[in-house]
Amino acid sequence: MQQNEQDRLRILRDYQVLDTPFELCFDRITELARTVFEAPIALVSLVDEDRQWFKSCLGLTVRETPRELAFCDHTIRADEVLVISDARSDLRTRANPLVTDDPRIVFYAGAPLITPEKYRLGSVCIIDRKPRYFTDKEKKILKQLSGLVMDELNLRRKADIDWLTGAASRGSFQSLLSHLALGKDRPTSSQTAVIAFDIDHFKQINDRYGHAKGDEVLVAVVAACRSVLRECDVVARTGGEEFTVLLPETSRGTAEMIADRLRRRIADLTFGNSDQSFPVTASFGVTMMDHDDGGVVRTIERADKALYRAKSQGRNQVVCYWRNDMQALAPSAA
Ligand code: GH3
Ligand code: MG
Ligand code: MG
Repeated sequence: MQQNEQDRLRILRDYQVLDTPFELCFDRITELARTVFEAPIALVSLVDEDRQWFKSCLGLTVRETPRELAFCDHTIRADEVLVISDARSDLRTRANPLVTDDPRIVFYAGAPLITPEKYRLGSVCIIDRKPRYFTDKEKKILKQLSGLVMDELNLRRKADIDWLTGAASRGSFQSLLSHLALGKDRPTSSQTAVIAFDIDHFKQINDRYGHAKGDEVLVAVVAACRSVLRECDVVARTGGEEFTVLLPETSRGTAEMIADRLRRRIADLTFGNSDQSFPVTASFGVTMMDHDDGGVVRTIERADKALYRAKSQGRNQVVCYWRNDMQALAPSAA
């Protein structure tokens, strides 16, 4: 099947797996692949727009490579296992720097990761530095391993609750938003505010203190939000360190005030110990849902634009964007 690349990338993003830390459940699968096939390298690779990115990579030190070098980019063109017995003589790969130079790939076998909608996101693959033959039985095993990876990814995608923080998942939040936009649960007079926020310099927190500490921060941030919000408000994890809050029956002024309260509550959190403590801040974009938006896409776009403005103006601040009024973008007291 010729796949629509834009749709494939949209679905890949929907899984929210790109740029997340290593995780044991995927490393177990690559470790199993290395043992069963006695191969030095095993990967769970996802083919993004311009790169292949590894959710798990055993035996390789890089976490991603440019897409044009990716063997897996060939694997995602068909449903079957792709086997390249000797990459040095295969037309598709013989000039590839990953073959002519380190890590000197010779043998490759990859099973595509296929979504329920039949899109191929990437592969589970093994790599060797010597030519090999791959039996039908081995192909079958590799396919089962790619099935295991997809089972895990599908479970997470379907979940209503984000497994780490307990916030609403991106998927459940999106259905809630479209439901609201259709007006099914919403009297025309009601006002619903949307706040998007993103933790500042989160990558540095991971890099300096480790991913486990990063995870701890994510959990604490959601707990801090809960302590500010009402029972009827919804906080969703819409990206790795990005969150969206839905505030029913809330006016502009109140939304701005709540966003600033969230900002301060997060900035007041302390992490680490007495020797090594560090602060965490976040940047906020606030907008209102509007019937004239004709759906939720425009509402979310406005919240995101305001959030980006907050980032570019120095972070740890709230920017509001009221409908059709770019001029109204203004930082609240930071
Ligand atoms: P900015 O202030 O511009 O938002 O910078 P940033 O560093 O927060 O943003 P960037 O997008 O560069 O980095 C986000 C990081 O979040 C990268 C990714 O590894 C990390 N991340 C995503 N999901 C998780 C997770 O579940 N746990 C942990 N610990 N880190 C995560
Ligand atoms: Mg961030
Ligand atoms: Mg971000």
